[in-house]
Amino acid sequence: MTVDEIKNGIVLDHITAGKGMKIYNLLGLDNLECSIALIKNAPSRKMGKKDIIKIDADIELDTEIIGYIDPDITVNIIKNGKNVEKKTIELPQKLTNVLKCKNPRCISATEQELPHIFTLADKEKRIYRCLYCETKA
Ligand code: ZN
Repeated sequence: MTVDEIKNGIVLDHITAGKGMKIYNLLGLDNLECSIALIKNAPSRKMGKKDIIKIDADIELDTEIIGYIDPDITVNIIKNGKNVEKKTIELPQKLTNVLKCKNPRCISATEQELPHIFTLADKEKRIYRCLYCETKA
């Protein structure tokens, strides 16, 4: 399957197959006016199968969200049809307003003005805990 190459924009490559839609939703890409392609199960030499997202606009993406869902994603910045930058993403140390604490007695659930903050507790197992009550995400 081929999709028209983009001129100026962003390509999220090497997304673990099946996670493309989740990233699409969490990044709020359905709110954008530009053309976006979500390619599922593209063949990959390295991964077998992968998802790819192509965004035909020069926008800022929330790398915290991307890193939380799949830190192995490569972010390619395209300018004038050329790949000018390849960024790798790391597991974020802190997530702000990405997740909500499940503990109903947590202060972040009762105090509405507080941001929802989670910190990385275990890098190997990718475990995040609420900053306020330490409940696991
Ligand atoms: Zn909490």
